[in-house]
Amino acid sequence: MKADLHNHSYYSDGLLSPSELVRLASKAECDLFSLTDHDTTDGIAEAQLEADKIGLNLINGVEISAFWRNMAIHIVGLGIDLDNDVLQTGLEFNKALRRERAEKIALGLRRSGIKDALEKAQNLSGGHMLTRTHFAQMLIQEGYCKDMKSVFRRYMTGKKPGGVRVEWKDSDEVINWIKSAGGKAFIAHPFRYRLTHTKIKNMIKDFKDSSGDGFEVVNANSSEEEISLGNQWSEDYDLLASCGSDFHGWPNQRVQIGNLSEIPNPKRAIWSYL
Ligand code: AMP
Ligand code: MN
Ligand code: MN
Ligand code: MN
Repeated sequence: MKADLHNHSYYSDGLLSPSELVRLASKAECDLFSLTDHDTTDGIAEAQLEADKIGLNLINGVEISAFWRNMAIHIVGLGIDLDNDVLQTGLEFNKALRRERAEKIALGLRRSGIKDALEKAQNLSGGHMLTRTHFAQMLIQEGYCKDMKSVFRRYMTGKKPGGVRVEWKDSDEVINWIKSAGGKAFIAHPFRYRLTHTKIKNMIKDFKDSSGDGFEVVNANSSEEEISLGNQWSEDYDLLASCGSDFHGWPNQRVQIGNLSEIPNPKRAIWSYL
């Protein structure tokens, strides 16, 4: 089974259209594909049209921002009903937080001498949702920083000019949005939060206690050690395993759609339970 269940279009911070992503997934011979834009399902209708046209199996998805113990994490919802009110009300709440944050980021940047940040970031987002990566791309284009890593460190986090704390909803509430819509909830990229293994395990335990279904055992940047640890933890806590490239279509992206390591234990893989 070739699956890629974590991808972004220009409905959030990806560069490509939903149709283009679906065609790339089909070209890569994916059996199963999901578009999981940040806090929006608005691109899925277009993805579904294209998937029907070329015969690709598309799973409805979304990547939702949430808090775990006051720290921002991402939760991927898969197999969701797009018309569910609880889910869509939750996504509207997060979209409003994002709009407020974008204004605060622009204000912070203006205070440090960077003018018209909101307008310039909006130009890059093509009028779709504004994310931190749009501000980051803009700062790179304007020559303030050379790459994503340094722009996040110097401008977009903590007490830096564009660093804004957002009060996302707690994980248990976000899991409830996903479950209300008949979906399954997964912790996205558990190794990317700069946590010790003990803390990641605590996060996984808490997630399970809040009725979460699993976590991403495989993503584009997973090392063999991470995959093997993730596999072990999915057994230990009786959770499902998902996989996704987190493809954004950015030029410097090393891993392409559908090009992922296998989930070690196929019995735990999400597709047996969708
Ligand atoms: P947002 O959802 O608007 O907070 O933006 C989060 C996105 O920014 C993530 O999905 C990543 O694509 C990107 N991102 C977050 N932190 C970093 C970082 N330190 N370096 C590079 N990209 C990052
Ligand atoms: Mn992103
Ligand atoms: Mn993420
Ligand atoms: Mn993502």
